[in-house]
Amino acid sequence: MAAPTIVLLGPPASGKGTQGRLLADTLKLPYFSTGRQLRRELKARSAIGREAEPYLEVGRYVPDELVLSLLMSWLEKHKGGWVLDGFPRTVPQSEDFDRFLGSRRQNLRAILLEAPADELERRVSDRRECTMCSWTGTRTQARRSGGRCPSCGGELGQRDDDELENFRQRRKEFEELTLPVASYYEQSDRLLRVCGTGRPEEVFSRLQSHLS
Ligand code: ADP
Repeated sequence: MAAPTIVLLGPPASGKGTQGRLLADTLKLPYFSTGRQLRRELKARSAIGREAEPYLEVGRYVPDELVLSLLMSWLEKHKGGWVLDGFPRTVPQSEDFDRFLGSRRQNLRAILLEAPADELERRVSDRRECTMCSWTGTRTQARRSGGRCPSCGGELGQRDDDELENFRQRRKEFEELTLPVASYYEQSDRLLRVCGTGRPEEVFSRLQSHLS
């Protein structure tokens, strides 16, 4: 059987990054976060980063063509199955991706991580991430490691877009544009709904039991 493709859907701070990396490690699949890559492009002031900037600043989704070109250049370098965090996020992106996958679309599983809004708001003010690698954690973990990434030693910080107003706009975008993506996958029986509350390990074992 061809390698599976896992796409992670969920509101901001629902744990897509944490669960995505755990899944990628377990299934030995390459992992990609479109949001993180966009923030890197922005930091590097690349053409894509500059184009994405006005959207990221206000918590809106970037145009489909932009994210597709970013993803396609990554997919070309990584053959086989993938764990995708934050893609697809709109119905046109899902349709494009299915066309790209062809018959491999049968091996796609979409995971929708669900958690209540107040829990997500609490998490977002608490989360820290590495500026160098894909590590994500909490304020307490960052303090314990002296502000350095436990995985690569890079500097830890808070995401620029994690202030409340931006976060609420991203949540609105999720409800309007990404919940229809969940329905799209549900129609073809490829959606798994997973409760995203609790410790990361608890969510992960829930997720694994849904996948098996
Ligand atoms: P979160 O899920 O917390 O919003 P991400 O890091 O996944 O964080 O995404 C950050 C931002 O990157 C999104 O709010 C959006 O502007 C942009 N983005 C990421 N992936 C996509 C996508 N597939 N389509 C459009 N915009 C995207």
